[in-house]
Amino acid sequence: MRKGTGNPNAASRATTECGVTQELTPDATGLARAADLLRQGQLVAFPTETVYGLGGDARSDTAVARIFEAKDRPRFNPLIVHVPDTAAARRIALFDDRAERVAAAFWPGPLTLVLPLRPDAGLSPLVTAGLDSVALRVPAHPVARALLTAFGGPVAAPSANPSGRVSPTRARHVIDGLSGRIAAVVDGGACAVGVESTILGLVGGAALLRPGGIPAEALEDCLGHPLATGGSAERPNAPGQLASHYAPASAVRLNALARQQGEFWLGFGPDATDADLNLSPSADMVEAAANLFHYLRQADTAASGRPIAVSPIPEHGLGRAINDRLRRAAAPRP
Ligand code: AMP
Ligand code: MG
Repeated sequence: MRKGTGNPNAASRATTECGVTQELTPDATGLARAADLLRQGQLVAFPTETVYGLGGDARSDTAVARIFEAKDRPRFNPLIVHVPDTAAARRIALFDDRAERVAAAFWPGPLTLVLPLRPDAGLSPLVTAGLDSVALRVPAHPVARALLTAFGGPVAAPSANPSGRVSPTRARHVIDGLSGRIAAVVDGGACAVGVESTILGLVGGAALLRPGGIPAEALEDCLGHPLATGGSAERPNAPGQLASHYAPASAVRLNALARQQGEFWLGFGPDATDADLNLSPSADMVEAAANLFHYLRQADTAASGRPIAVSPIPEHGLGRAINDRLRRAAAPRP
C-alpha cells in the first residue's frame, strides 16, 4: 500500500471490489479531510491510545447504522461516544460528584464513563441502543483529540475491526479488516496502550463494567470505596441500568406479510405499500437500521395498544442486528 506522503490531498487509496478506503496522514490536511468525511456521515478510523476506533457522527442515524454494517455486528449493542473534553461530555450526560472526580483525575485517558443520558443530548438512539445511559470517553491520543476538535461533534467509535476479530493497534490492521468498507483511516502509528478502555458504570452504584487501560484500584482510590464487580457492560449489575431498554408497550408480531385486522403495520421493502410506516421502501438495510428505534417508538405511540405487525427482514448483513432487536421487542415480557 502506498502512503500519502507527497500527495496534495494527503491521501492514498486502497481499492477493493466494494469501494475505496483513503489512507490519511495525521496532519492538518488529512484531519480536515477526515472531519469532512465525518460531516458527510461517512466512517473514518482513527488512532486512540487504546486501539484504533471506527468513528462516525454519533448524532447521525445513518452514520451509526453504517458502523454496525461495516463491522458486521450481529446486534445493536451500545457504542462508546468520544468527545474532545469534559465540557463536551457534560452536554451529553449528567455528571454527579463522582463523575466529576474521576473525569478530573483520568480524562483525557483510557477510561469510559457510563452516565445518565441528557434528554437533549441529540445522539442517535442507535448509539445507546435505546438506553437512557451513555458511554463517554475523552481520548488522550493527540490525533484523536485533533480529529474530535476539527469535527466539532461527538463521535461514536467501537474498535475498528470486523465483529469477532482482534482489535487493531495499527492503521495496517484496520486496512486488513475493513478496506473497502469505510471511507478512510487516519494513520497515527501504533497505539500505546493496546487494550481497551476501562468502563466504569456510574448509573446507580459505581461498578466496573469492563477492565481495561486504567486499573480498577486507581478508580477505587479516587472514589474512596471498592467498586462492584461481576457485572459486564452487556449485563450491568447496577440495578435498573438496562430497565429502560426500549420495548414497545404493544404486542409485536414478526414476519407479517400483511396487516391483520386492528394491527399497526411496520413495513419493510417495496411490497409493503399498505404499511402504516415503512422502515425502508427500497429495502435498504442501512436506512432500515437508521429508522428502527425511531419507528418502533412512533409505531408504539400510534398503535396505542393495538398490536404491531412487522414485515420480514432478510437475515443477512445489518438484517441480523435488526432482527435481533425486533425479536427482543416481540419477546414476552415479565
Ligand atoms: P466497544 O465500543 O465495542 O469497545 O464496546 C463498548 C462497550 O461499552 C460495550 O461493551 C457496551 O456494552 C458498553 N456500553 C456502551 N454504552 C453503554 C451504556 N449506555 N450502558 C452500559 N454499557 C454501555
Ligand atoms: Mg471491539
